[in-house]
Amino acid sequence: MSTRKVALREFFLSTIALCPPLAERLADAELGTEVEATGNYSYTCDHTHGSNYFLVGDAYAFIDPVFSSGVMLAMTSAAAAAETIDECLHRPQNAARALKRYDRLLRHGPKQFSWFIYRVTNPPCANCSSAPAMFFA
Ligand SMILES: Cc1cc2nc3c(=O)[nH]c(=O)nc-3n(C[C@H](O)[C@H](O)[C@H](O)COP(=O)(O)OP(=O)(O)OC[C@H]3O[C@@H](n4cnc5c(N)ncnc54)[C@H](O)[C@@H]3O)c2cc1C
Repeated sequence: MSTRKVALREFFLSTIALCPPLAERLADAELGTEVEATGNYSYTCDHTHGSNYFLVGDAYAFIDPVFSSGVMLAMTSAAAAAETIDECLHRPQNAARALKRYDRLLRHGPKQFSWFIYRVTNPPCANCSSAPAMFFA
């Protein structure tokens, strides 16, 4: 992206053209929206649950496609939500504690992954001769 010298739409289409099998598959496709670019697509919500709902997976957070955290976080948060709902329904006296635990667990996962990604990419490993030491520090 940093080498781009043309408009975003043109850059997007010319990048697709670099891969003939992809270009062939998309030959009859039309852009549904204007092409957009972003430098950071990570997000987390400021809450994890509310009255009659739980946020799980991407509904709560998305960190990074390269490090493949999405499916793991989605599955673990869904399992934790199911356990919490079960606790709330069957042992309502424990609901407050169960919801607090759910909240803590959901916030913990993305933070751990963000830290891991930060440590791996800052400074970029390609330029970092001490990458293994940094990794296991
Ligand atoms: C291009 C790309 C590559 C990725 N690669 C990886 C990877 O290699 N490894 C990895 O771990 N993660 C990867 N991810 C991330 C991963 O796909 C997501 O983090 C994960 O699928 C999140 O699961 P989810 O169940 O929260 O959401 P989703 O998988 O998005 O599921 C939500 C479901 O809800 C449905 N839905 C939406 N609105 C409604 C509605 N109103 N009523 C009923 N249903 C509705 C949607 O159709 C969808 O089926 C990638 C993501 C992208 C975009």
